[in-house]
Amino acid sequence: MEKQFTSRDMVKIGCHDCRGCFSCCQGMGDTVVLNPYDVYELTKNLGKPFEQLLEKEIALHTEEGMILPHIRMDGEREKCIFLNEQGRCSIHAFRPGLCRLFPLGRSYDYPDEDRIEEGEAIGFHYFILEDGCPQKEKTKIKIEKWLGVSRLVAHEAFILSWHNFCKKFQKKAGDLIRDPEQEEYIRQMNLFVLQLFYGKSYDVEQDFYKQVEERLAQANNII
Ligand code: SF4
Ligand code: SF4
Repeated sequence: MEKQFTSRDMVKIGCHDCRGCFSCCQGMGDTVVLNPYDVYELTKNLGKPFEQLLEKEIALHTEEGMILPHIRMDGEREKCIFLNEQGRCSIHAFRPGLCRLFPLGRSYDYPDEDRIEEGEAIGFHYFILEDGCPQKEKTKIKIEKWLGVSRLVAHEAFILSWHNFCKKFQKKAGDLIRDPEQEEYIRQMNLFVLQLFYGKSYDVEQDFYKQVEERLAQANNII
């Protein structure tokens, strides 16, 4: 089992400001998945609503029956749409959570490891992705500093709630898909979730986490 860390731990992942490397910003297909906070940050900082981002910067894909947005890779070398000509991230200050995380991953903790499918995760740990980043002579850095997310406690609580909601949605979609007559219902569920969490704007004057919590409560009652 990989070594597990909390955000307060020091890990050897510092990569000297990437030293001109951008290998984790290209060829990533649809894997830079965006959660509602990522899209909130993009819409707020780029001044574009979700629908407009879908025209260029973001695309949709399906994961186990759930439609989710991801950052678009572009051109022959499949470079991230936000990579500039100098090979730097043009949205560094408000880059998505998965970009902040790399080369770390998250592993979720379940009360009953043998019945993960049925239960809700009660927390998560960070781990270092093997061969994730090729940079040599890494330096030690505290995970919370590496992530650079303000209000990390609230953010981590949201990450856990969002994970549990996605798993619940995917389980329901997986159960329903066995019945071809339910296809339209799954599509409607997806449209509802996309609109509720991504399409419907958040009030930037109010606390994001409180707003998304209310939406999660609403969606959890329906799904
Ligand atoms: S692979 Fe490592 S060094 Fe290269 S861009 Fe990603 S984090 Fe930076
Ligand atoms: S958003 Fe920035 S950090 Fe993330 S893949 Fe694109 S260029 Fe890289």
